[in-house]
Amino acid sequence: MGAKYECIVVGAGPAGSAAAFTLAKSGVEVQVLERGHVPGAKNVSGAILYTNTLNNLIPEFRAEAPLERSIVRQRYSLLTADAELTILDLSAAAFKSKPRENAFSINRRKFDAWFADKAGEAGAVYQSGIRADRLIRDPAGKICGVETSEGRVSADVVILADGANSTLAKQVGLRKRFTPDKVALGVKETLSLPRGAIEDRFNIEADEGASFKYLGEPVHYSPGGAYILTNNDTLSIGVVLRLSDLSVKGVKPYELLESFKNHPRVRRLLDGGVSQEYSAHILPELGYDHLPQLTGDGVLVTGDAAGLLNVVFHEGINLAMASGLMAALTTAAVRENGGYSSTSLKAYNKMLHESFVMKDMKSAMGFHKIMEERPDYFDKLLKSAVRFATDAVSITDKPKNEQIASAWKTFRSSYGWTALAKEAFRLWRLVS
Ligand SMILES: Cc1cc2nc3c(=O)[nH]c(=O)nc-3n(C[C@H](O)[C@H](O)[C@H](O)COP(=O)(O)OP(=O)(O)OC[C@H]3O[C@@H](n4cnc5c(N)ncnc54)[C@H](O)[C@@H]3O)c2cc1C
Repeated sequence: MGAKYECIVVGAGPAGSAAAFTLAKSGVEVQVLERGHVPGAKNVSGAILYTNTLNNLIPEFRAEAPLERSIVRQRYSLLTADAELTILDLSAAAFKSKPRENAFSINRRKFDAWFADKAGEAGAVYQSGIRADRLIRDPAGKICGVETSEGRVSADVVILADGANSTLAKQVGLRKRFTPDKVALGVKETLSLPRGAIEDRFNIEADEGASFKYLGEPVHYSPGGAYILTNNDTLSIGVVLRLSDLSVKGVKPYELLESFKNHPRVRRLLDGGVSQEYSAHILPELGYDHLPQLTGDGVLVTGDAAGLLNVVFHEGINLAMASGLMAALTTAAVRENGGYSSTSLKAYNKMLHESFVMKDMKSAMGFHKIMEERPDYFDKLLKSAVRFATDAVSITDKPKNEQIASAWKTFRSSYGWTALAKEAFRLWRLVS
């Protein structure tokens, strides 16, 4: 070590490689430090790759990147112990061609390695198996390098892309430790299944993929969810919920995953699947109004390290890439004008706010408020909705209109007209 680069990027996930790729393309000397033995070795996602940013970075990615299946079917269900109410099941051929072909299942290990190779081809230098331990400041207090497990590297500016736990952002005071209600844990298992079985069970063609998402019972009716995602010849299955909910419910993550896999409405989809891999990772669920400081003198924070995760649509990879791209564009522009002060790097903040990243983070604020203030929506309301649907479509001796009226009466008995009106008003206040 002991070298000097114009920019050091810490972390070779989607944020780090998007930053490195853009910097290298702009002619900036950049080194990426990755603690895993190769990029992607330690990374966990569902994973659906939303490709809006990648499309701008590497327009030919469809032909080159290790993509699994193009997601053409999206299903969202409410699950109770013995029933499933699907609230949306959308399969559309439009998702198989441009401009709507924008979601693919990926294997993060393969994808991150490919993305790092692309940044390497553009001129970025990757150093894997090296942990960044501490940021170094010059006498004026500006960040001027990184202390690593292999020694010191100097740089004019450092981009932090070290993921949700970002010890470095905490170390330099840009971010506080996340409280348990602001961080979720995702546990995931990969099961192998023959391609044909996947296509039959999920009603998709050979080149198509499906994403099934569930609320309710799999996460003990807390504000989290479970999912099944089809890859080429594997399924990704996972549950995600906040650490505070894990503690309140007194459950262990692997128990939740096991019980989800054995749910009567789920187990046949997975039948015969052979376990390939088990992993767990944290996700930042801060919300827009709790985001950390994104720049300091000589440093920018991107991706999960910056809390950029859209909890409503489960998007993190594309926000990470977009923030990495914008941090790099800011760095390259500031380099032309000289000086990497916190004030000049604030252009990064502005760029993020003008883009879909902060606009979506802001739109998701209402959902964060619901998670904080009305967790019962994920419990009582969800169970009542499933009960209403079950009662409404049951065949009895009653005429249909009486049957539906009776189901509605049962639904209202758990809320009442006044309570329902109040809930609707509260919901509107929370999300508006
Ligand atoms: C179970 C689960 C499912 C998810 N599903 C989806 C999904 O379907 N779609 C989606 O868009 N998002 C999903 N996400 C979120 C997504 O994974 C993240 O938002 C995304 O990975 C963030 O990218 P990043 O580059 O900021 O961080 P990361 O991907 O976490 O990358 C950080 C990198 O930094 C390295 N690193 C960390 N510390 C150091 C250090 N000190 N020194 C050197 N290197 C270091 C790590 O090894 C890693 O390579 C999911 C997350 C989980 C946990």
